[in-house]
Amino acid sequence: MDLTKLTIAELQEQLRKRAVTAREIAEAHLKRIDERDPQVKAFLRLSPERALEQAAAIDRMVEKKQPLPPLAGVPMAIKDVIATRDVPTTAGSRILEKYRPPYDATAVARLEQAGAVILGKTNCDEFAMGSSTENSSYFPTRNPHDLERVPGGSSGGSAAAVADALAVASLGSDTGGSIRQPASFCGVVGVMGTYGRVSRYGLIAFASSLDHVGPFARTVRDAAAVLQVVAGRDSNDSTSADVPVPDYAAELEKPVKGMKVGVPKEYFGAGLDAEVRAQVEKGIERLRELGCELREVSLPHTDYAIACYYIIATAEASSNLARYDGVRYAFRAPGADSLEAMYHTTRGAGFGAEVKRRIMLGTYVLSAGYYEAYYLKAQKVRTLLYQDFVRAFEQVDALVTPTAPTPAFKLGEKTNDPLQMYLADIYTVTGSLAGVPGISVPCGKSKAGLPIGLQLFAKHFDEARLLRLAHAFEQSGGFDL
Ligand code: GLN
Repeated sequence: MDLTKLTIAELQEQLRKRAVTAREIAEAHLKRIDERDPQVKAFLRLSPERALEQAAAIDRMVEKKQPLPPLAGVPMAIKDVIATRDVPTTAGSRILEKYRPPYDATAVARLEQAGAVILGKTNCDEFAMGSSTENSSYFPTRNPHDLERVPGGSSGGSAAAVADALAVASLGSDTGGSIRQPASFCGVVGVMGTYGRVSRYGLIAFASSLDHVGPFARTVRDAAAVLQVVAGRDSNDSTSADVPVPDYAAELEKPVKGMKVGVPKEYFGAGLDAEVRAQVEKGIERLRELGCELREVSLPHTDYAIACYYIIATAEASSNLARYDGVRYAFRAPGADSLEAMYHTTRGAGFGAEVKRRIMLGTYVLSAGYYEAYYLKAQKVRTLLYQDFVRAFEQVDALVTPTAPTPAFKLGEKTNDPLQMYLADIYTVTGSLAGVPGISVPCGKSKAGLPIGLQLFAKHFDEARLLRLAHAFEQSGGFDL
């Protein structure tokens, strides 16, 4: 039995039957990482001691016939923007090279309480700014389906790890698409819950009004199991929502027949790759066969979403990243003879090009004289985008779109053209700005064998319906369309 190819439910079954131990499961994954990660480069750092300690604790529970928690023995990977106690957490940046958080992010703590085994930290674009993981200060991650191509980003390491069976599931973060787009590029499931659904405590801030923590997995059921554990109110994050979390596994079984699904016409215009369009159209047809009622809807402000996102996200980033000053978080460039010079040299040496570009853009749009023209205007546009979704959801229960305009592109293909890179987020930033939940599920492959993702959105806090629809799609063979 290949222990790296099982679902969460299958692993639990094996543990309960005592066919395997949690230690064996963890070791099988660490071995596969040893063999494969030198090519894929999904991990920045492994935490084998912590993993094996946790596995031993699970094995003791099995031994004592104690009831097992829901993720007992499940090997997981964590994006390096999410704090892990005593395990370096760099956000893919030099400026955090030596930072060891003194605490666990709430999502990580909840995973471990639920029995998950944390294997290590995954590579990402620096401070989650990017769509290809090429902005990591350390090295790029490669797409397991084609090593010459990017895994998407910014949570590329977390997506690639799950796609290549280096972990059963992982956590990523999504600000404008960073879970859904890499899920689409790597052929796995990625979920961004409603803004506030999952605590951000311990998530290194990029754009606080847009940042989300969420899962990657190989099946919708596995993604739902992880979301179940990390979702819910956390007193350490005042923006986490006090909204009851339904039993997602039970919700998966409910019928989708009669569900009204909207197809926003703005998501099928220029710039959409022909093969992606063809696959997503097949996916929509499949939803119809499943008994969903499809209807065309309009989200009329979609065209302004990229501009709006790159003003708001950079504004918030410029403010959030002010804390990396050479005094806190361990990194300080040498040789400065004044406080100001120390700030300059530290930030100059510690941040990469994309992060500097965003700090400058963000500082500009917030500066006196430009604030009204850019930042305030963008906030108004954000409200219009939000209203687009609210109106659409008066007519339908869910929306279906492509996740990304193209399949995975080649390494280096877009690195010299930031605008091209930003356009990779064209279908994902809208939902982020509106705060609605979204999921990317595999929807077949291109002729070259590259995965294509189908994106679904639902109303605020209606993750249950999103997962149910995605699950029905998967069960109908939608992943292989
Ligand atoms: N690619 C987008 C950006 O660079 C989204 C990133 C993210 O969601 N963290 O901002």
